Formats: sequence, C-alpha cells, structure tokens
Amino acid sequence: MSDVLERLSKLPLRENLRGLQPYGAPQLDVPIQLNVNENTHPLPEAVSRAIADEVFAAAQRLNRYPDREFVELRSRLADYLGHDVNADQVWAANGSNEVLQQILQAFGGPGRSLLSFPPTYSMYPLLASGTDTTYIAGARADDFQLTAESAAAQVRAHRPNIVFLCSPNNPTGTALGQDVVTAVYDAGQESQAIVVVDEAYAEFRHAGTPSALELLPGRERLIVSRTMSKAFSLAGARLGYLAAAEEVTAALRLVRLPYHLSAVTQATANAALKHVGALLANVEDIKIQRDRIVDELTRMGLTPAASDSNFVFFGGLESPSTVWSGLVAKGILVRDVGIPGHLRVTAGTEAETGAFLRELEALLEQDRAGR
Ligand SMILES: *Cc1c(COP(=O)(O)O)cnc(C)c1O
Repeated sequence: MSDVLERLSKLPLRENLRGLQPYGAPQLDVPIQLNVNENTHPLPEAVSRAIADEVFAAAQRLNRYPDREFVELRSRLADYLGHDVNADQVWAANGSNEVLQQILQAFGGPGRSLLSFPPTYSMYPLLASGTDTTYIAGARADDFQLTAESAAAQVRAHRPNIVFLCSPNNPTGTALGQDVVTAVYDAGQESQAIVVVDEAYAEFRHAGTPSALELLPGRERLIVSRTMSKAFSLAGARLGYLAAAEEVTAALRLVRLPYHLSAVTQATANAALKHVGALLANVEDIKIQRDRIVDELTRMGLTPAASDSNFVFFGGLESPSTVWSGLVAKGILVRDVGIPGHLRVTAGTEAETGAFLRELEALLEQDRAGR
C-alpha cells in the first residue's frame, strides 16, 4: 500500500467509501486516443471563436454571481431537444455525471436504492456510493441484451427507488427499445421509481431509433439525461442536462449548490448552442466510421455488438489485454472494460479508424497464433 493510501485508511472515512478507487480510464499520451468515447474531431474554428467572444463578454461581469437559474441556457437546450420540451422541464449541471449525482441526492440516499443493468456505465455504482444509495446490479442476457420482460421483472423483484437505463448503452453501444423503458416505468409504479434514461450518445443513433424524449408526456417519474460531451465535441466544457416533468427540476433545485453553473460554463454552452449545425456536422461522419468498424470487425471474424453510439464493443478475442498492449505499442489507445474476450473502441476520424483497423488486423494474426 502506498504511503498516502496507508494514511487514508486511518482517516474516519465513510464506510462505503473504504477501499474504493477514484474513477478514471487509464490515460496514455499516444497519438490516437480512442478510449473514452470523446468526439475526436476538434471544434470548427468559427465555433471556438464564437465561444471565446461570449466567454470574453462574460469575463467582464465575473465580479457578479452567474444567473442562478441559467434561463437562457435552459431555453436554448429546450429548443435543441424539441419534442415540445420547455425550459422549465430542462435542468443542467457540470457534466451529466453531476446531473445524475443530483438525481441521486434528491431521490436516493441512505435507505434507498438504485438499480441498473451491468455491463453499463461504470460511474453508476460510484455515484451510488458517493450518495450512500444502495446499488443493485441487475442482470442482462448472455449476449448483453435486456428485454422488456426481464427488466420489468427485475424492477418488480427489487422495488428500487431509482432505475438507470443507459441507451445507447455504454460499453455495449446498443440502444434499448422503447418497450423496455415503458415496461420499466410501469413496473416501477409500485415503488414509485424514478426512471432515468441516460442518452449520452443519442445523437449517434441510427435513423429511426426513437429517443425516450417521446415518452415524457404523462410520465412524471421519467427523466432523459443528455450531455454536450460527446456529439457536441465539448467534453472539456462540462455541460450535461436533462428533460423531465417540471416537478423533477424543482426537486433538483433543492440539492444543487448555489450558482453551480459558472458564468463561463453558461457562456460556453450558449455560444455552442448558437452553432449546433456546425458542431454536429461531424456526427454523420463518425456514424459512417462506426458502421465501418462493425463491418470490418465482422469480416475479421470478431463479434461486434450492434452500435447506436460513437463506439463499438467487440468480442471474439483470445487475449484482450495482449491486443490492448499491442495497439498501445502502435500509438493507439482503446478501452479494456474488463469483460472477458472483449474490447471497446471509439469511432474516430477516418484516418484514426483506418489506423486502428490496420493494426488490429495485424495483431489478430498473433492473437490467433496464441490460441
Ligand atoms: C460519457 C458518458 C456520459 C457523459 O458524462 P459527462 O459528465 O456529461 O461528460 C454520461 N453517461 C454515459 C453513459 C457516458 O458514457
């Protein structure tokens, strides 16, 4: 044990934080970073300039607290979402991780529980322990699919206070059917479960794949969470948001810190939302690269999962850790999510994707020779 960890273990830390590791994907300084599902396309220069201008204007008023209600931002986000969502139904925070944490602060906590269905976003259990909410790991089928019947039965069995559904799911990439969301919502009636659909990757879904935003009317326990970190190329700006019934946003006001969204953050997001077209221009290209990865990996005899996101989860590897290290040696970083036989890769630019596919194919020959 390192010195600091030794001393940490002597502090009066909350019991449910003992032994935990801070979240964070291994980061290495290599040329091609395809490990955390960022948008690997930089912002168009015109948009960076527009952001800088709006941040400059905000900087001249930094002696004052920001708009606590971030009214302009909520209304721009509502316009972007469409589906008749209005500004009072929108809430935002510093990344959707903070949005999810606030949901747990308001609706979870000691004596309450959160159900989700691993393999899914690995932050969910950490957000649960951070808020002293009991985490319940639900089950998926062997092929990582989740049916409406299975999900609803698990909700009825566990009677959770909160359910997190990730769609498209990280790390598998696959979107859930609307039937899964409605079945979980209906099954949660008895325990009055808050049902969150984490749509961090919504913009990358195939045409015709619906969003849970369509299901909001008449469902006051349903929340749809989104982020500007992925499709918008704004992971560094830290802006996540949600749409829900107005009473849900009223609940989140009870737990948010005063002025939690800085004037700089609000200016950045507002400027970006004036340039949605330019910012999302690369989404179609990324989807093409995503589909290219699925096709090519299938041709190589691997088993990629159907993906509605900007990444591909694939199985069929004899030794994922060897392939992972082999790719790093070639300057390419992908994600080993700890699932036997599998790795996850973000769809990058055409050139990055090409390099990944070339090096992977070469490594596969070695992987198979080791069988
Ligand atoms: C990347 C990701 C997020 C986004 O987190 P931010 O805090 O908004 O950057 C949320 N949910 C899932 C499943 C993700 O993969």
